[in-house]
Amino acid sequence: MCLFCKIINGEIPCYKVYEDSDFLAFLDISQATVGHTLVIPKKHVANIFELDSETASKMLVVIKNIANKLKEKLNLSAVNILNNSGSLAGQTVHHLHFHIIPRYENDNIHLAPDAHEIDHEALKNTLSKILN
Ligand code: AMP
Ligand code: ZN
Repeated sequence: MCLFCKIINGEIPCYKVYEDSDFLAFLDISQATVGHTLVIPKKHVANIFELDSETASKMLVVIKNIANKLKEKLNLSAVNILNNSGSLAGQTVHHLHFHIIPRYENDNIHLAPDAHEIDHEALKNTLSKILN
């Protein structure tokens, strides 16, 4: 059984932020910033590619509600919502989870990719691969 399924089953403790019949949210053990929370479906799904549409749409509501709770209780003005799907993307626990990362002044978190030169030919080529 995967690590997060063990947390859902209560075999491993967690700092629970929220729970309902379909989802669990708990503090990330390694807090990127204060309040860094993980939201997971109770149903084991490895990553975004495996997620069914019904769970996906319910999950965004849960993420939104928890973001607002953190905003209110921790007096935040900003969060990043992050999902790593696949090892190459940095996923280390292969049970789908969304990170809610509160942002603070001078928190030294750098998530935005570097800016690149604009290449319209490459953009057209990529788009034609996606659409055809
Ligand atoms: P990812 O790299 O997107 O797969 O993120 C996995 C996250 O799970 C990391 O940020 C870890 O700090 C976190 N994590 C690992 N074990 C635990 C645990 N027992 N309780 C809470 N968070 C955990
Ligand atoms: Zn699992």
